Amino acid sequence: MAIDFEIKFYGVRGTYPVSDKNMIKYGGNTPCVYMKVAGKNFIFDAGTGIIKLGEEVNTKEFDANIFITHMHHDHIQGLSFLKPLFLDENSNIKIYCKNYKEATFESIIKAFLHEPLFPYNIDTSKAKHEFEPIESGDIIEFGDIKVYTIQNNHPDGGLGYKVTYNNKSCCYITDYEVKEENIDELTNFIKGTDILIMDATYNKEEYKEKEGWGHSTWEDVTHIAKDAKVKKLFLFHHKPTRTDRELNEIQKNARKILKNTFCAKEDERVVL
Ligand SMILES: [Zn+2]
Ligand SMILES: [Zn+2]
Repeated sequence: MAIDFEIKFYGVRGTYPVSDKNMIKYGGNTPCVYMKVAGKNFIFDAGTGIIKLGEEVNTKEFDANIFITHMHHDHIQGLSFLKPLFLDENSNIKIYCKNYKEATFESIIKAFLHEPLFPYNIDTSKAKHEFEPIESGDIIEFGDIKVYTIQNNHPDGGLGYKVTYNNKSCCYITDYEVKEENIDELTNFIKGTDILIMDATYNKEEYKEKEGWGHSTWEDVTHIAKDAKVKKLFLFHHKPTRTDRELNEIQKNARKILKNTFCAKEDERVVL
């Protein structure tokens, strides 16, 4: 049977990229998840992981929809080195995110990919590119593929996403702090999904000092995924100081709550 829904992790590390001999197994690039659905390319976040994705597709007529959760550095810092965007006139790149009260996301990206922060100007990039502002609650349709959105609980907000196609689904929700008051909304959004990729930056102990920083604990996320009957959970946005050994331990303990739980790993491919 042809594969019509596949997912690949290009960056799973939160906050800032890391390179360390104790962080080889899970990887050090900041968030980027690729989904190929019914032949269409979807990319979630443009952290440093997107650079490798761009290298892999090289500059060959790459048509992609990039959904960005929010404008924090770790979610856009790879955009500047996305080869098809800057080098290929036959590529088409559409970028989606929410606008901010003070500025459109288009103006933020244009300032980020512009002198003096960057030597080129995104307006001179070769690919056709456009910016599409979206809001929580929007459903973006690509034929039978639908992308649903949810409001993230994070400083300055953000969007979580769910992609559905042919009775299959994958949720990508990162930079989201679980609180008593948003558990019901989150549970409804992820209910029964095949794959949930979810912010699990902290453990319970660490969270005590980080309440309000906009991230969740692996304990909360695993319990919620279990209650929502999620089929497979990937803990994501790993704390930058988290070692491979610590992530192995988290995965082992999380599986006592929900058996099908994995710490997301760079380069891992999942077929639905
Ligand atoms: Zn982040
Ligand atoms: Zn953030």
